Formats: sequence, structure tokens, C-alpha cells
Amino acid sequence: MRHPISILDGVERMSVAGLSGIGMTSQRTRNRLIQRLRDAGISNEAVLQAMGDIPRHLFVQEALSSRAYEDTALPIGHGQTISQPWVVATMTAALLEHGVPDRVLEIGTGSGYQATVLSKLVPQVYTVERVEELFRSARRVFRAVGARNIRCKKSDGYLGWPENAPFEAIMLTAAPPGIPEALLKQLSIGGRLIAPVGQGQHQRLICVTRTESGFEETDLGGVIFVPMLQGLE
Ligand code: SAH
Repeated sequence: MRHPISILDGVERMSVAGLSGIGMTSQRTRNRLIQRLRDAGISNEAVLQAMGDIPRHLFVQEALSSRAYEDTALPIGHGQTISQPWVVATMTAALLEHGVPDRVLEIGTGSGYQATVLSKLVPQVYTVERVEELFRSARRVFRAVGARNIRCKKSDGYLGWPENAPFEAIMLTAAPPGIPEALLKQLSIGGRLIAPVGQGQHQRLICVTRTESGFEETDLGGVIFVPMLQGLE
């Protein structure tokens, strides 16, 4: 009988071809990436552990599997990219800095990798994606890796996910020109939103904390993300 989950078929094919046999996707390879992240200044052990546990090669196209544990962004189709592991680690650590949020909303599911990292660290993850094909393949991968605490839907992230608001944390993995008002409204008091903001080469990673009286912003430095686009595809 055929296995119902095609991504696992892919894994089996890869081992037949010898990819896992020569260690390109092995735990040792994953550990090397974690060591590289440590060397690059990531010190949150829970984040490092989560990333060490996740088979990132399942989130990229098979042809790129051998590069899945390099600390680089990789194409995932539709002109989109899976973020660089260092960026994923930095944003995740920043989001968890003042304690573990109960529920996190991610905008821009893409490959599903960032959502899966979050799913290992927080009780409930919500994620939205505007591109049908990316949404479908991420949903398949969530099933394949057994990430049961992720709810995903196809929708325009500019709207957030009002039915499930407020969120204690919101993470954008595509860059809007400014922080969308609707998302700030869906943040709980004391909650944090982290987002690349700006256009092209001029983006800043911004962390916003909602207080009783308003919003406080910190600038975490320059980044480059794909743009956050309006509407569905
Ligand atoms: N978090 C992803 C990164 C993907 S790149 C990962 O771990 O792989 C950013 C993603 O944001 C792309 O898939 C893109 O289609 C999506 N995106 C861009 N604008 C969006 C919007 N308005 N709503 C939802 N998703 C959006």
C-alpha cells in the first residue's frame, strides 16, 4: 500500500538515492547547523533545541535537500524563500524573550518551517499564507512532521486572524511598508509583534510591545525579507 503522505515518499526516495546515507540530512548535519548558530550568537537553548529537532530538508524542494542545513535562505517557489536559519532563530528568540506566549500568529506560512519551530516552543500556533500552493504544501508538511498544534489557513495576512484574536505574539515573515493596523489591534496587552518593515534593501526588524497605554517599538537591525503583498494568489 502506498503511504498516504507524499512528503514521506520523498524521504524514502532520498534514502534509496543515498542522500541520507551520506549524511546530508542526518542528525549530525543538523547539529552542525546548530553549532553554527551558536557561533553566530544565538544563545536561547530552547530555540536551538527545537531547530536541532526539525528536519529542515522536508521544507525545501527535494533538489535542494543537500543545502537545507546551510545557514542560508533557499527558494521555495512562487518567488518566495524559506528564511535563513539564523534569522528564524533570532526572531523566535526575540519573540520569546519575556516568557512563552500561549498563542502565536505567524503571517506568511511559506514552507511552514518557522511555524514548525514555533510549534515546538509554544502551545498553539496560527499561521496564514496568501499563495494557495504554498498553503497546501505547508499543510501537508505539518501533517508529515506531526505538528498538531498548528492551525493554518489561506488568507491575506493584512487582515490577521480576527476570530482567534487576541494573540500574545505575532510574527511577520514578509515585509509590509508599515506595521498593519489590523495586526496591532489583534495583539493582547503585554503582547509582542515582530516584523521586518520597509521596502527592498531598506528593511528594519521591528519589535513592538503593546502596553496598557499604547505601543513601544525597538529596532533590532537591518534585514531583507520578501515583500508582504495584498490579496490572494
Ligand atoms: N515563514 C516562512 C517564510 C516564507 S517567505 C518559512 O518559514 O518558510 C514569506 C511568505 O509570506 C511567502 O510565502 C509569501 O507568499 C507570504 N506572504 C506575503 N504576503 C502575505 C500576506 N499578505 N498574507 C499572507 N502571506 C503573505
